[in-house]
Amino acid sequence: MKESAMIGDLIYELVQIPGPTGHESRVANRLKELLEEHVDEIRIDKMGNLIARKKGTEGKHSLAVVAHLDQVTMAVLKVDEFVWFDKLGWIDFRTLPGIPVLILGEERDVPGVVCSTSAHFEAGSDKPLWIDVGERQKYVSPGDPIVFATPPQWLDDKKTLLASPSIDDRAGCSVLVELARRLPEKPRHDVYFIGTVQEEIGGYGMRHVLRKLQPDWVIATDTGFAEDAVPDAKKAFPLREGLGVIRLSFTQPGGGVLYPATVNFASPRLQKLLGDAAKRLGIPFGVFTATNSSCVFFLLSHIISSQAARRRRPPRPPTSTIRTHRPRYTAHVPASRPGLAD
Ligand SMILES: [Zn+2]
Repeated sequence: MKESAMIGDLIYELVQIPGPTGHESRVANRLKELLEEHVDEIRIDKMGNLIARKKGTEGKHSLAVVAHLDQVTMAVLKVDEFVWFDKLGWIDFRTLPGIPVLILGEERDVPGVVCSTSAHFEAGSDKPLWIDVGERQKYVSPGDPIVFATPPQWLDDKKTLLASPSIDDRAGCSVLVELARRLPEKPRHDVYFIGTVQEEIGGYGMRHVLRKLQPDWVIATDTGFAEDAVPDAKKAFPLREGLGVIRLSFTQPGGGVLYPATVNFASPRLQKLLGDAAKRLGIPFGVFTATNSSCVFFLLSHIISSQAARRRRPPRPPTSTIRTHRPRYTAHVPASRPGLAD
């Protein structure tokens, strides 16, 4: 099988596993099965993070490659004849009406559909939204997580362009598996493959794991907005495919004080290594500025070769798209904790 087909099939499989923030175990377990044969140690910690290690011959240093297991999530607020809900993380409510969802109830998963008042009765974009679960209300409780249940779709006959709500960050999870599979039998230094929980609400899993492991280098792999994904290209990265490093542009939260500061947390050394490698292999490479990232506070992450959507297709949930035909170009981004990597 061609390697591009393999990573395409892998992403296709992983995007279908529900992994709402705080309930990532199904994704972690599947990833554990996929990584097991390629690493020396693997475990899931008490918080739910998946931590795999391939031992190096020298073992003096360590590199952690990280992807997050969770996806943007909503949560049940109240249940009566219908299910009333709110969002966690970056979701635009305007994209939701008509979307199929899955509620992860304690006893069973419950499918539903997001409803809004028909335009026959009420116009406007601020209409209330609720979820219709038919007669299965008894399986749903306040606090239950909700994920989008839109099935993945190939948008071309060659199966290179995939659309799904959870490409962020199952694309990164696929990179972990692919990288573990391709690494030499014995790398020089230890390599960790880490799937983290609770990224979408602030990168909590990542913070916890990295404080514990104290790796020398970190590469976070995630998705970003490609230039052809967003009508306003200035807000996107001038990259359709390839390898990118993100610099972050901050604003001070709360207090109203705004300091737009662009900070490059990425290790200059690691960034140069990646840039040189990209050049050698003829891979497009860029360093970009983004306005935020859920991991920012601590580490950073992001970008890449997710090539997304056509103009009318929203790049954020409920659906984004990714090119899978050149797997070596997928989603790598260097990041490091300031002070450690250089
Ligand atoms: Zn992400």
